[in-house]
Amino acid sequence: MHRFFVRPEDFTSGEVVLRGSDVSHIRTVLRLKPGERIQVLDGLGNRYCVCLTEVKPKEIRGQVESKEAVQTESPLNLRMGLSLLKGNKFDPILRKAVELGVRSVVPLRTERCVVRVLRTEEDKKIARWEKIAREAAKQSGRTELPAVHPRLQSVENFCHECRDFDVKIIFWEEEEETRLKDIHVENSPRSIAFLTGPEGGFSRQEIEAAKQSGFQPVSLGPRILRAETAPVVVLSLLQNRWGDL
Ligand code: SAH
Repeated sequence: MHRFFVRPEDFTSGEVVLRGSDVSHIRTVLRLKPGERIQVLDGLGNRYCVCLTEVKPKEIRGQVESKEAVQTESPLNLRMGLSLLKGNKFDPILRKAVELGVRSVVPLRTERCVVRVLRTEEDKKIARWEKIAREAAKQSGRTELPAVHPRLQSVENFCHECRDFDVKIIFWEEEEETRLKDIHVENSPRSIAFLTGPEGGFSRQEIEAAKQSGFQPVSLGPRILRAETAPVVVLSLLQNRWGDL
């Protein structure tokens, strides 16, 4: 069954209204008709079976037939700082990160990232990534919508804003000692913030700034992983050790 996210306020006494891009998707792509069923998620952990009652050009209405609480969210709050990458390489990583249960993604402007996003293009890019995150969340059956940070951030700002996370890691290929297995936390951590860099890696200043905010440089082993491989490996390892994978 096709899945859609709606806001909790779009429900009123047993009825739900879908607006925006979902409307054209349901009408013109899926060509669903009244009487057909969809799955609706409210982003709060509830999944509804909805029978469509009206399919109009601007809005779609449906009757809620059943509601169940589902939990597909990881107990681990994972925040990923991901450097901008060449071309559209950011997009598939974002998708995979959502599949792997990331809670929030922060696009980073790093010193060595080759792509330049002008301030004027930023909103458009973020809107595109929000859409990708939403699609990936639907596809992978997430019950909560992962957040995409509304602005590009520097390594310094990212690290500063994550000061309350239980575990804070910056992945650095030049780190020679600390691996993930060396990180010991007394109680199982509930929140982890981490960063992975661009094709050219992080600069020394960025590593220093991260350290200043309590981030530990950690190695992913003796081989250099591509900028698009590292985040996927990291999320899998973290979810396996402290999350639900
Ligand atoms: N320019 C570097 C590689 C950068 S790889 C070089 O060729 O030497 C891109 C990003 O992936 C890095 O910034 C880092 O965050 C992560 N990464 C890749 N391999 C890694 C490793 N072995 N240990 C830790 N981080 C790694």
